[in-house]
Amino acid sequence: METWQKMLQRSITKPADLTRKYGIDPQPLEKVAELYPMRVNPYYLSLIRSVDDPIWRQAVPSVNELTDSVCPADPLDEENQSPVTNLVHRYPDRALFLVCAQCAMYCRFCTRKRKVGGEQMQVNRETIEQGLDYLRGHSEIRDVIVSGGDPLLLTDEKIDWILGELRSIRHIEIIRIGSRIPVVLPQRITPGLIRVLRKYQPLYLNTHFNHPDEITTSSAKACTRLADAGIPLGNQTVLLRGVNDDPEVMKRLMQRLLTIRVRPYYLYQADMVQGTDHFRTSVEEGIEIIRALRGHTSGLGVPAYVIDAPGGGGKIPVLPDYLQSLGDEVVLKNYRGDTYRYVNVNQQQPEQEPLRVVNCKVSSGGA
Ligand SMILES: *Cc1c(COP(=O)(O)O)cnc(C)c1O
Ligand code: SF4
Repeated sequence: METWQKMLQRSITKPADLTRKYGIDPQPLEKVAELYPMRVNPYYLSLIRSVDDPIWRQAVPSVNELTDSVCPADPLDEENQSPVTNLVHRYPDRALFLVCAQCAMYCRFCTRKRKVGGEQMQVNRETIEQGLDYLRGHSEIRDVIVSGGDPLLLTDEKIDWILGELRSIRHIEIIRIGSRIPVVLPQRITPGLIRVLRKYQPLYLNTHFNHPDEITTSSAKACTRLADAGIPLGNQTVLLRGVNDDPEVMKRLMQRLLTIRVRPYYLYQADMVQGTDHFRTSVEEGIEIIRALRGHTSGLGVPAYVIDAPGGGGKIPVLPDYLQSLGDEVVLKNYRGDTYRYVNVNQQQPEQEPLRVVNCKVSSGGA
């Protein structure tokens, strides 16, 4: 069987490579691919059923990437929240550590479109050492998200080294990997890689499925291997116009993810990234999708819908209006739209009898 490295080498990197099979005119797309790199490996290419389908749209350059005017290159202000190159420290107790500049497929909607796969993003032994030093020196960081680019494109040895260094830092309680590899090049999830990963528990992996057609026997097998190694799997989906902006498609995606042991984690409103404006939907559409999921299917399959605040404010959850009013009485709307009332506890009430501790058990009153 072909190795994942060989498969990656056979990737398509020019729009002209699509002409013979799909009959498209590559000329207007050449400029786009020069500005933002193109890489569609043979596996992901095989998922395309027709021109402009949801797989195509994620992978093949579009002239729309050039006409976008309102969006900045780095809307999340990652560069300003980077104390050292390739490390973003935005939240109090966790940090995002970028350890690879390449991906197995360059998503056209990528938030780090400004730099992944290009000269602007340099990752080398030195930047990784600097990141590790920063993490060693900041004992408030208990959770590190190893990302990129795609960290699982590194060799097993490199991954082993980075995870080993992270694990040797006492205050780092959990390690998370952010990788699209299980979706775009599942052949990379080899038994050898699994042997490396399973040494560094507690290790979590968040992957990135956007459409039910991405769930195949190969991606299911990759997820099974990871889950069998005791690695809890989560999924971060980006809401994308023309790809998954449909409550039925999204419901099918979430349900199918659960069948391959991947737990939906976030649904992202598309970031305001230069070159990706054509993928953005309204926020109302996102809210409608969550409304169509909650109560209508397994709660396990309902991700948190978030907007990553422009300017680096972090992820902010957005919910349909289930909470209608909050006072002495809480007025709630359920998934069917029916109204319910819950009698609230008055926070201003005089102090109630305090909890007593008996034989290390907490009990209230005389019980
Ligand atoms: C998303 C993100 C995290 C992790 O956020 P969680 O809500 O804990 O998953 C951490 N740092 C940065 C910079 C992020 O963008
Ligand atoms: S895999 Fe992630 S980092 Fe790489 S291009 Fe896609 S969205 Fe961007």
